[in-house]
Amino acid sequence: MASVVLKDISKVYAGGVTAVSHFNLDIEDKEFIVLVGPSGCGKTTTLRMIAGLEEITEGELYIGERLVNDVAPKDRDIAMVFQNYALYPHMTVYENMAFGLKLRKTPKAEIDRRVKEAARILDIEHLLNRKPKALSGGQRQRVALGRAIVREPRVFLMDEPLSNLDAKLRVQMRTELTKLHQRLGTTFVYVTHDQTEAMTMGSRIVVMKDGFIQQVDSPQNLYDYPANLFVAGFIGSPEMNFIDVTLISEGGAVYAAFNDHKVRIPEGKLKKLIDDSYIGKEVVLGIRPEDLHDEEVFIDSVPDAVVTATVDVVELLGAETLLYLTVAGNNMIARVDPRSTARAGDTIKIALDPNRIHLFDKETEKTIL
Ligand code: ATP
Repeated sequence: MASVVLKDISKVYAGGVTAVSHFNLDIEDKEFIVLVGPSGCGKTTTLRMIAGLEEITEGELYIGERLVNDVAPKDRDIAMVFQNYALYPHMTVYENMAFGLKLRKTPKAEIDRRVKEAARILDIEHLLNRKPKALSGGQRQRVALGRAIVREPRVFLMDEPLSNLDAKLRVQMRTELTKLHQRLGTTFVYVTHDQTEAMTMGSRIVVMKDGFIQQVDSPQNLYDYPANLFVAGFIGSPEMNFIDVTLISEGGAVYAAFNDHKVRIPEGKLKKLIDDSYIGKEVVLGIRPEDLHDEEVFIDSVPDAVVTATVDVVELLGAETLLYLTVAGNNMIARVDPRSTARAGDTIKIALDPNRIHLFDKETEKTIL
């Protein structure tokens, strides 16, 4: 079993900086978990504590049910792949991959078996006799992965391993890492600041901000049910649109009102708003770009959720079109059908899908519904 359990872990650096606060997480055996968040949120520090490269100030860390707070990195049965995967330039790919095992005095035949097996998995068998300078960026990254694989660790720790690759290769390597995870059947803990990378690879994602976990969930749940304003804005591209609104009650219905616009909140969502006394209060309304519609049929179907917008820019992307809009002074982005006839300068009607409206508490920034 290679589960990794972090129990109430905190890290305070020597200068007094609290990098990670009360971090609680159960990573299951064979899981692909991604830690994501903006620069400085404590992702790398968390990974380095798991690796044993950084002392844990408070809390307990278990790898495979063993308390490892005081266990040296080399005895933790983990392998780490970094952003800067320095390969030894004077060694061949084979020697680079074998190096760590040689240091551990692994028998020659065993080294040979493991290097060849890793090379087969990574599809770099034909490169084993080359030196790093004769490799492409993607091939070098694969060798770096190979060096980790030959150690047959129970847990892989990866810190932005794709960030030095160009955009196209990064996308390709994402799929390769997902396949590698399936083939190896090992626990992966992966750090990135890129939400798309997190969404495409993680079976579960940990969103962090300022050293605190904001939400731990599957990619789809994070997208559909963000726990707070930060997660809602961080996950998804283009990001969710936000508008400050006041919830008003009129003729038995509740509306989110801003300027001279009113959007009716569906009946089914009212109970929570009434129970928690939000009527009459200011809240933040969130709506994803794909939940804004400019098609007439949709607009006609939800007459209580239509606003007037000015089209600032139309971005044609082929499979979809992005409309950059101004709605009563608010900038919004709509992801619409490429057959949309909206043009820059137009004043158009835009409908909000009432069932896809998110509301957030303005003070706590937590999700209301
Ligand atoms: P990035 O994406 O930029 O790598 P991160 O989320 O990985 O960021 P960390 O590197 O874990 O963030 O840093 C978390 C916080 O701890 C930051 O405020 C950082 O400045 C601070 N920090 C990191 N390393 C040290 C250190 N050795 N000494 C003091 N403070 C540190």
